[in-house]
Amino acid sequence: MAGAITEPTLAAPSAPVIDAALGRIRAIVGDRGWTTDPGEIAPHVIDQRDRYHGAAAMLVKPADTAQVAAVVGVCADQGIAIVPQGGNTSVCGGSVPGTGGDEIVLNLSRMNRVRDIDPANYTLCAEAGCILADLQAAAAEADRLFPLSLAAEGSCEIGGNLSTNAGGINVLRYGMARDLVLGLEVVLPDGTVWDGLRALRKDNTGYDLKQLFIGAEGTLGVITAAVLKLFPIPRVVTTALVAVAGLDEALTLLSCARSASGDQVSAFELLPRIALDFVCAHVPGTRDPLAKPHDHYVLIELSSGDPGPALAETMERLLGQAVEDGLVLDGVIAANTGQSRDLWKLRDSCSEAQKHEGGSIKHDVSVAVSRVPEFIRRATALVEAAIPGARPVPFGHVGDGNIHFNVSQPPGADKAEFLDQWDALNRIVHDLVHEMGGSFSAEHGVGQLKRDDLARYRPAIELALMRRIKTALDPRGIMNPGKVV
Ligand code: FAD
Ligand code: ZN
Repeated sequence: MAGAITEPTLAAPSAPVIDAALGRIRAIVGDRGWTTDPGEIAPHVIDQRDRYHGAAAMLVKPADTAQVAAVVGVCADQGIAIVPQGGNTSVCGGSVPGTGGDEIVLNLSRMNRVRDIDPANYTLCAEAGCILADLQAAAAEADRLFPLSLAAEGSCEIGGNLSTNAGGINVLRYGMARDLVLGLEVVLPDGTVWDGLRALRKDNTGYDLKQLFIGAEGTLGVITAAVLKLFPIPRVVTTALVAVAGLDEALTLLSCARSASGDQVSAFELLPRIALDFVCAHVPGTRDPLAKPHDHYVLIELSSGDPGPALAETMERLLGQAVEDGLVLDGVIAANTGQSRDLWKLRDSCSEAQKHEGGSIKHDVSVAVSRVPEFIRRATALVEAAIPGARPVPFGHVGDGNIHFNVSQPPGADKAEFLDQWDALNRIVHDLVHEMGGSFSAEHGVGQLKRDDLARYRPAIELALMRRIKTALDPRGIMNPGKVV
């Protein structure tokens, strides 16, 4: 019976039990591997949006998989809750503990070795604590591309990326984090190690267990290492920012670009005028590259392994035709990497620029790519009716159907009063997303922030299946309690 499965609940262990467990953990990880110093713990119990302030009995930083397994084993014995943590860049409170102070934060940052690169197999095996940008660099050194890319790449870690199934700017071409994994090593909630570090593209041997842990946000085990897919490095990348005639025209342009380039579109990002205004007003070193203002812009990037002029010609032909067809009103193609960086800066600065316009209520949603224009129109109308003067700033990865539908407060409004309407506005937008067959969390995950949404929008049978899996793997409920399910 769907409703009969309840999630495991953890009775808080007594203070002597916690003390004894912490003593055993200290012995396992040694002096460099733990702290109870409140100053050192502080940045690890607050999320990066400063929304959740938790407390931890200890910050544990294991050096290798054996230490992780031993620590988890102690916690399993004693019923101590564990919050796995990478770069702590989660935007939904997934990586910080609750307020009880009886959980440990298990931070993987010291496990930052690239164990192996196999260029001929186009794979790289890395430990969970490797910073994403370092992995991109390690792949590049071997003349390969690791395509996962997001604004937090200088501090987020691959274990966190996989645990949140991160998306970012290259999903259209290379898929989500989930699509970039061939094998995993996981410490299970009872402290045993599952070595699934196979580097195979074909492996039909039963259930695809690694996919259970990818996107599980630390609720089913601790990812300690992964075999990741690599790709050929693009020899040529061409970037353009174009003003489109409207949202429907943006969608048509996407199809044209995919066809004309032989599916070499690596990014297709939407920017509304208001986002460009915010960026140019608040982010030093940015300017509107076009002569006149327009309502909607698209940042298009094509990339290819052919070092010749063909890709640049494709971009020019594509945009020339799009102007002729009335899809594109104006645009600029970057002439060099510096100009390309400048165009990307306009897109990458959207979130940052919004901070200067007061409060912003966030929605990380997706719908079918074909329904993005309809979604933006309907959501904008609903938001404007709910909070007169509120300013929707729908930007992001339209190429894969993911819109960051962030809403800035009305100019001059009280920030706190506006943010008080967070849940009510989320409800309006997420109801629409649900009605349109979309997702209330496209790439950021569930964490603490969207737990209620999961219960509200997913069918009972899906929730029941998730809880059965949770109960089967983590019967004591020690893995990241209070998150996701
Ligand atoms: P953390 O925040 O430390 O943890 C995230 C979750 O994973 C938590 O639930 C944690 O318990 C769990 N976890 C961490 N490590 C492990 C492990 N080894 N084993 C098991 N569970 C683990 N996300 C996107 O998808 N696309 C974006 O474009 C994007 N842009 C961002 C831009 C900025 C500026 C910021 C701050 C965040 C952005 N994010 C984005 C969200 C965030 O960066 C990603 O979710 C990232 O993948 C989290 O990695 P992390 O190492 O910081 O993980
Ligand atoms: Zn994003």
